[in-house]
Amino acid sequence: CAKDMGKDKYCFYSTELQNKIIAYIQMVNQIRHGIDKEEFQLYYQPQIELRTGKITAVEALIRWNHPEKGFVSPMEFIPIAENSGQIQQITEWVVKTALTQKKEWDKKGYFPIKMSVNFSGKCFAAVNLVDKLRFLISSMDIKYNEIQIEITETAFMSDLNFVIEIVNQLRDLGIKIALDDFGTGYSSLTYLKRLPIDILKMDRGFIKNIKNDLKNHDEIIAKTVIQLAKELNINVVAEGIETSEQLIFLNEHGCNEGQGYYFSRPIPAEEIESLLENHHKYLTNNYKYDDAIE
Ligand code: C2E
Ligand code: MG
Ligand code: MG
Ligand code: MG
Repeated sequence: CAKDMGKDKYCFYSTELQNKIIAYIQMVNQIRHGIDKEEFQLYYQPQIELRTGKITAVEALIRWNHPEKGFVSPMEFIPIAENSGQIQQITEWVVKTALTQKKEWDKKGYFPIKMSVNFSGKCFAAVNLVDKLRFLISSMDIKYNEIQIEITETAFMSDLNFVIEIVNQLRDLGIKIALDDFGTGYSSLTYLKRLPIDILKMDRGFIKNIKNDLKNHDEIIAKTVIQLAKELNINVVAEGIETSEQLIFLNEHGCNEGQGYYFSRPIPAEEIESLLENHHKYLTNNYKYDDAIE
């Protein structure tokens, strides 16, 4: 590097950028390797009908067990996979794995639960997406209306009209469409207005501060989002329920369903299976009992 400050500065920035590029390329290679070596796994988080405590669905959430780094969060690698285009391959794997699991549970004769998978906005551009899904689901003899697709907006949807077209075709088959993380920057009223959806998943950011005595507007927002969904005839699911106070509040305001650590973290298939095996029901409306065990 040259001795004068200006050049030094230039070197500093360029090294930083270079490191970023190297890290990106390494991650892309590791993802490719991870796919080949089957380092990915699906966990499932139950979605619960608040009125009855019954499990209505499970959301498939990808886990990456990296041989050196250990567990890598999807928040870290999904955005990179979206950029590199690897998201297509990952999503194909997720869909096949989740459907195979769903079929297995169907065959065992458990009460039917829906399987929910996350699709990043970019996945809607995949070639023949609708045909591929139709083929896969029908050849496995799975009910279309027991499949749910969550549109997660980690990447901005560039062509909303095109996405709407695909969403309409999926809904014509009977597949349920959920708008994920509703209320965050990526998933706003514009999408609610334009996308034909069946389910609205209220972001956990609005659930977090319910009944925690902080001065906040979250209770009003949560209440209003529930009301809005009801008037639009859309099912509303609260994400990230962690306390009984949040559950009581949401239940009292007519929120249809919920998910969160209060009920269960995302867990491996075997653990879901033992819940289904035992016809597990969560306690959601017997607050006296709830108080008694605390
Ligand atoms: P998401 O779809 O909104 O999933 C919910 C996230 O919240 C999950 O994080 C879940 O573990 C977490 N969560 C659930 N209940 C609670 C709670 O009570 N408290 C807290 N603090 N967190 C809770 P996870 O599994 O790390 O996934 C993060 C995000 O990565 C997902 O957000 C989704 O956007 C994306 N993702 C995960 N799996 C896939 C996938 O297979 N495909 C795509 N495209 N994206 C995925
Ligand atoms: Mg989701
Ligand atoms: Mg979400
Ligand atoms: Mg989220």
